[in-house]
Amino acid sequence: MRSPTVVTSIGELREVLDARRCAGHSVGFVPTMGYLHAGHASLVKASVAACDVNVVSIFVNPLQFAPNEDLSRYPRDLDRDLDLCGRSGADLVFVPTDEEMYPSEVLTVVSVSSISSRFEGTNRPTHFSGVATVVTKLFSMVGSCTAFFGEKDFQQLAIVKKLVADLSMPVAVVGCPTIREPDGLAMSSRNVYLSETERAAASVLSRALRRGVDLIRSSQTVTSVVESAMAQVVAAESLCELDYAAVVDSTSLETFETIPENPRLLIAARFSKARLIDNMGVNDA
Ligand code: AMP
Repeated sequence: MRSPTVVTSIGELREVLDARRCAGHSVGFVPTMGYLHAGHASLVKASVAACDVNVVSIFVNPLQFAPNEDLSRYPRDLDRDLDLCGRSGADLVFVPTDEEMYPSEVLTVVSVSSISSRFEGTNRPTHFSGVATVVTKLFSMVGSCTAFFGEKDFQQLAIVKKLVADLSMPVAVVGCPTIREPDGLAMSSRNVYLSETERAAASVLSRALRRGVDLIRSSQTVTSVVESAMAQVVAAESLCELDYAAVVDSTSLETFETIPENPRLLIAARFSKARLIDNMGVNDA
């Protein structure tokens, strides 16, 4: 296994990547918040398969956490992360400090309207501007590249695609499939917040999504019928409370009375110390 080079300064990151681009090499980039698992590894492997030099960033971005959220207790394990990056084939791991990323008060905020205000945006009103701002900064540091994001965070992926298109960034955004545990639970760094009994119950999200997908596949065309069926699956599980179950258009994330041509099913539910999100396309399950 090759050990990746750890870079902590923006200057050094730019220098290394500019030199590689000058030599004709393509750059693959995987932004993360660390505490990496097989879902992140799949993004790194997709990057390695497509690009010559591959960078993973690990940065728990304070800007995307509201004061009442889990910033200080967000799980971290840099040694294990570096090991996973090396085993997955990453060449560089960019691990900036908060001071390197935000040396002074942030007065410039990037926000993608409309898509950001729905679903996760309703629950977390400042979250996506924090994400869009840090992604814009990271793209500006990494430069021209192909960036790999998980479909696991489907709304985030839609926002990043729109951001790159609207700001003409020299970045190709690639969405990668969600990696799941054997019982269907989408892998997430936040799954560690679940108790043992909650962990067993947490597969309810993917079961609800599958129920919705099955209905659409068997020609159900009324959005509210599919959404109610998903909600019913979650209601049968007493350890969590549904935030939303929705069928949306895959690009705009808008809802319609009838199932759109290219639908995506979204779900979010709260457990005692964890709020989990998941989603599925009709051809996924
Ligand atoms: P995070 O570290 O949670 O900010 O996630 C970093 C990247 O990994 C994002 O693009 C996520 O969508 C992606 N990701 C997280 N979990 C999974 C998963 N289970 N399968 C695929 N990608 C994932």
